[in-house]
Parts: sequence; structure tokens; C-alpha cells
Amino acid sequence: MRILIIGAGPTGLSTGRRLLELGHDDFTIYEQHSYAGGLCASFRDEQGFTWDLGGHVIFSQYPYFNQLFESALHGQFYEHTRKAWIYFMDRWVPYPFQNNLRHLPREVIAKCVRDLRAAHRKNTSPENFKEWIMANMGEGIAQYFMLPYNEKVWAYPLEDMSADWITERVSRPDVKEVVGLLISDKDRMDWGPNSIFKFPAEGGTGQIFHNVAAQLAQKIQFDTRVEEVDLIGKSVKLSNGARQGYDVLVNTSPLDLFTRMCAGAPASLTEWGEQLAHNRVWVVGVGLKKGALDEKSWGYFPQKDVPFFRATYFSNYSPRNVPGPGYRSFLCETAYSEDSPFGKNQAVDTTIAGLLDTGLIAPEERSNIVSTFSFDIPYAYPIPTLNREKVLARINPLLEEHGVFSRGRFGAWRYEVGNTDHSVMQGKEIADRIVNGTTETVWHG
Ligand SMILES: Cc1cc2nc3c(=O)[nH]c(=O)nc-3n(C[C@H](O)[C@H](O)[C@H](O)COP(=O)(O)OP(=O)(O)OC[C@H]3O[C@@H](n4cnc5c(N)ncnc54)[C@H](O)[C@@H]3O)c2cc1C
Repeated sequence: MRILIIGAGPTGLSTGRRLLELGHDDFTIYEQHSYAGGLCASFRDEQGFTWDLGGHVIFSQYPYFNQLFESALHGQFYEHTRKAWIYFMDRWVPYPFQNNLRHLPREVIAKCVRDLRAAHRKNTSPENFKEWIMANMGEGIAQYFMLPYNEKVWAYPLEDMSADWITERVSRPDVKEVVGLLISDKDRMDWGPNSIFKFPAEGGTGQIFHNVAAQLAQKIQFDTRVEEVDLIGKSVKLSNGARQGYDVLVNTSPLDLFTRMCAGAPASLTEWGEQLAHNRVWVVGVGLKKGALDEKSWGYFPQKDVPFFRATYFSNYSPRNVPGPGYRSFLCETAYSEDSPFGKNQAVDTTIAGLLDTGLIAPEERSNIVSTFSFDIPYAYPIPTLNREKVLARINPLLEEHGVFSRGRFGAWRYEVGNTDHSVMQGKEIADRIVNGTTETVWHG
């Protein structure tokens, strides 16, 4: 059985690695870039700063993933306790906002608690993400944080997003707990699966997949883009002009682009693909010499006049993310949509202005900036739109009929199982299914 894999990101690499574990070596991975890792790649600049494509943190409940992570890094990684904060009304509020209202002005606390109680009393069934926020958080928390913040992250109308992906991703406040924390004057900062996270000691997140790719070196063709797929004849056309046949094709490229590459498919396949929505993110890194960095992991910024939605204190993740002692770095993410594009210089300039405005960089430190990094991610978050399930339920069976499995963050287009560990598990499980016929658990059809 000849298996071709599109993409050497976490999903494609994991598929290949698992195939080898299962003793199946008749496969090739095609990667359009000269490096592996996809969105999990890292880059080191001439000044000696390491940059990720957005603030990646690693946390997982899957033993298979944890074993891959630890063995790929030969045990060389840090484990951090998350220290996440929200910048709000010129102060820092511990994350999650809804659990730490005591840091807010009294009138804001009163409105948040009153509205939370009223919302929970109503007990409505939300039909979209915006309604979910209103029903679960109440108008106060929604208006002060949840709506403006999520509008920034998704750069997409929240009322056009579904509410069925949320479980592990958003903390649903419990009225009793919120009031209890207020009365006891305590913070609760440990909510969620990433409250403890891991990070490679050297080389950024990309080091994990750089090392996995090294184990698969003979199996990866870099700088080779898959440009066309003949679903009927079961072959792909590559950017070097060659054609390769397959029995099974695993796609990890964005599903909407993939449907456009498919020759011999009904026109409706491309039309369904076009209904999938995603945002884009500009990642801007700013490296400084001198000056102390406080101990935060990252800060969230719901404000409209701050460009980024999140700033990661990246030098806190590993001292080797910076050239040496006394240096520090921030990694900032700004989401945008097709309707509001902006250019590279604008991204760097507005990010630096935002860091100055929010006090993350003091005015006198501006001249200490010794490096900037800028990376445009055209496919950043796969958006759980209202019709996403309907669209996927049409595309996937048709592809499977032709021996094609589409997996991974944008291959599967499911944000809720689109983290690094989910992607690795999707890769592993599709290899298991192809070779042994086992059922997938992370991806569902
Ligand atoms: C801003 C941001 C922050 C994130 N933060 C976290 C985090 O904190 N923790 C976490 O666990 N996850 C995080 N993620 C998610 C993580 O990056 C993804 O889960 C992971 O990279 C998905 O792996 P993948 O292989 O499915 O896709 P990708 O990483 O997108 O890899 C796909 C690969 O396919 C290649 N490719 C595409 N088209 C073709 C083609 N036609 N021919 C050949 N090759 C092709 C691409 O070049 C790429 O290398 C974050 C993602 C983003 C964007």
C-alpha cells in the first residue's frame, strides 16, 4: 500500500512516524517549505533570538504525545506554571477574568456578579458563540472582557460561530465559586488544561518537530509542493512537475485549498470548501537588551486600541530564547481577516506602539530594541462557524470514498482538536486506521 502525506507539520510527521512504528515504510511526505514543523516551526535570527509562530505552549493528556515530546527533546525541556493576566482598565487582572473579579473597580464587580446571576437564572439555550457568552457569563463579563477579547482573537462575527466547540476552551463561571472567591479575597488562576505547560530548553517549539523530522529524513521531500490531486486516477502532481501515484493520501494542508486542488471531483466539493472560514494572524517578535522582565507567561488584551490580543513574555519560557542574560523578548499576536489586511511594516510599528502604550516596554527602553521578527500566518485559527459540521459532513465522506483522509489543524478544520497534541494524535490514529483498521478517537467524522 503506497501512502502519500501532504505536509511535514506535526500531523504529517506523526503519521509518518507511526507508520514506521507499525513497520509500514512505503510512504513519502511532501513539504512545500525547506523546513519541517508547519505552524510549530521556530526561527533563530542573526541576533540570536529564537521565535515561535505565536506563543506556543505544550500541554497534553495523551501519553503517546507526551512520550513523543520527551523522547524527541531527550528530556531537555522546562515545565512552567502558567502566569496569565488580562490587561484591563490600566491594571492586570489574573486569568481567567471571570474567576478573579476582585481586582476590578467595585461598580464593575457589582455589574458582573448581578448579570452573571441573572443570566444563569434565565437558563437559555444558546445558538451561537455570542449567545453562549451572554448566557454563561452575563452581560457584565461579556461586555467588559469576553466579547471584545473574542472579537479580537477570531476577527470574525461571534454570532456566526457555533457554540458546540467550547467545553475545554472557555472557563464557564460558577456563581457560587465567583462569589466565594470575592468574599475570601482569593485568586483562582489554575483553571484549564494548560495551567502547567512545557517548553523546549533550546530551539523553541520547532525543536520538537525538527528532531522528529530528522528521524524521518529519508521519507520527506522538502521544497516540494503538491499542486494537483487526481482523485479518480489516484495520483498527485508535484511542483517539480513529477506525478506520483498512491493508494492512500493523507492531507494536512488547509482543507479549502485541498478541495481546490482536486481534479475529477464534483464542482460542489470546491464550493463546500469555500464555506470554511479561518482568520489570519501577524506574529511580531520584539527583542530587547537590558531591563527586567516580570514573571508573566503572557497577557491578554481586549482593548480595541491595542493591536495584539496576546503578548507572550517569550524569554520567560527558556533563557535560550534570547542571546544571553539581560536580554528579553515579547511575541505578540494580532488577528485579522481578509477584509482588514495590513502590511509587514505596519504590523511591526503598531506592535511596538502597543507595547509602549501598555507599558510592557517603557519609553526610555525603545532604543534597547535590538531585534524584530515578523511573520504573517495566512491560516491561523480554523473558525467553528455555524455550518462547519454540515460542510465537513459533505466533504469527508467524498474524500474517503477516494482513499483520502484529511487531518490536522486545517486538514480537519476543527479548532477544538487543533492543538499540537491533537494534531500529533490525529496523525498517529490515522496511521493506525490505515494499517490496522482501528477507530480514531481524537478526530471524528
Ligand atoms: C498563533 C498560533 C498559536 C498556537 N499556539 C498553540 C499552543 O500554544 N499550543 C498548542 O498545542 N498548539 C498551538 N497552536 C496550534 C499548532 O500550531 C497546530 O496544532 C499544529 O501546527 C498543527 O499541525 P498540522 O500538521 O496539522 O498543520 P501545520 O502546522 O499547518 O502543518 C501543515 C504543513 O503542510 C505543509 N503544506 C501545506 N500545503 C502543502 C502542499 N500543497 N504541499 C506540500 N506541503 C504543504 C505546510 O507547509 C506545513 O508545513 C497554535 C497555532 C497558531 C497559529
